[in-house]
Amino acid sequence: MRTLRSQMDLDKLSQTAVPVDAPIPAPHRTFLDILRCPVCKSVPSLQPNKLVCRQCRRAYPIVLGIPDLRVYEDPLIPLEDDYRKGEKIQAQAERLNFVELVRYYWSLPTYPPTPPDLSERFIRHVLTDEQRIEGYKDKIGRGGSFLDMGCGTAALVKVAQQSFRFTVGCDVAFRWLLIARKRLLEAGLQPNLVCCCADFLPFPDGYFDSVASVSLLEHVSETGAAIHPRNGTSYQARQQHLCVDGEPIFTRARTARPGVGSWLYASALDARLHQMEAGNGL
Ligand SMILES: [Zn+2]
Repeated sequence: MRTLRSQMDLDKLSQTAVPVDAPIPAPHRTFLDILRCPVCKSVPSLQPNKLVCRQCRRAYPIVLGIPDLRVYEDPLIPLEDDYRKGEKIQAQAERLNFVELVRYYWSLPTYPPTPPDLSERFIRHVLTDEQRIEGYKDKIGRGGSFLDMGCGTAALVKVAQQSFRFTVGCDVAFRWLLIARKRLLEAGLQPNLVCCCADFLPFPDGYFDSVASVSLLEHVSETGAAIHPRNGTSYQARQQHLCVDGEPIFTRARTARPGVGSWLYASALDARLHQMEAGNGL
């Protein structure tokens, strides 16, 4: 059972984030306005570099321009290492393009070390995301607002901006959101990205018209909790679409609480990749 990080831990770690010289994109105000405290769902107040919930007295840092509303860290990497990698990525984000930034990420040390052929495979996987999305992009529908839960490098968020007026990507992996932002900025799109936990979503109930989740469930240890978030959020999208690597596995259902069985699926390739990722402490 995971334990929640103490507020002191989060404050301390966010303060130790070393500023980088390059200008850091600020989150858009209209995006910040939709964020809620992931624990009590109150509207947080915006203060310099953080969002503060007066109701439950929690503060959520905005680190390198990314609101971090996690209540626990990425299970694959300690919080401080997540931030440190994020800083390194952001420091390179101005001078490298998206492809180069993905390659740079995989040049950083991992524990245990990732064999070069495996790194190449991970890079290829990220760089071909948009091709795979072509296979199911029509399934996510169209409308006002769209959320990609577990967005990784935001390939689907990018594509969804063709069909939705407002798109958001969220992920528990802080470091990957900096690469995601590069993808969106490079495409001239507004990067509405937030770091958060799938079972503690920081959004108003029922806010999104469509929610997608690609290759998320392999990462969620408490799958039931992710499907029925314990803070009452639930995925109250009017449509939900769950796809794994190009294969839609749950589409156009109009219920906020689908049967667990219909969510538990992963393509063999994808499951294997994620097992390898987990084994390499990414
Ligand atoms: Zn709160």
